[in-house]
Amino acid sequence: MAFKSILLRFSRECVGEPVISNLVRKHGIEINILRARIHPSEEGRMLAQVNGSEDQISAALEYLSSSGVEIHLPESSFIWREKKCVHCGACAGICPSGAFTLCSETFEVEFDISKCILCELCIEVCYYSAIQSVEDYIETRGVKK
Ligand code: SF4
Ligand code: SF4
Repeated sequence: MAFKSILLRFSRECVGEPVISNLVRKHGIEINILRARIHPSEEGRMLAQVNGSEDQISAALEYLSSSGVEIHLPESSFIWREKKCVHCGACAGICPSGAFTLCSETFEVEFDISKCILCELCIEVCYYSAIQSVEDYIETRGVKK
């Protein structure tokens, strides 16, 4: 089984279509929606995790793409901008999974993406804006898939 985070952008034309229910029905994947902003007649966004075999996930992504959904595949739901980080340790103090930790030897924070459960508590506590949500990052940088 594979596990992927996906960030989807729905155009105005496809925002009213049952794309996600078709995705689950046709491709048998599990989808865990972490955040969604969908309004009728406006562009929509969704951050989700999908679970399934590699084949199921790649067929699901093809289906999304053919339905007019723009897909980004972030490694996480946020970007850690190390250059802005002052290693205050606030993220390590709140991180429930141990993905952010403070090294007792260097007094610097370390990040292990494999432990991250995408709760995003770290974004809220970072006073220095060193952690930015992927949606904001894509919005400000215009990053394409
Ligand atoms: S809260 Fe922000 S500035 Fe502080 S250690 Fe974490 S990422 Fe760095
Ligand atoms: S999103 Fe949650 S689990 Fe992941 S690093 Fe931030 S606080 Fe830790």
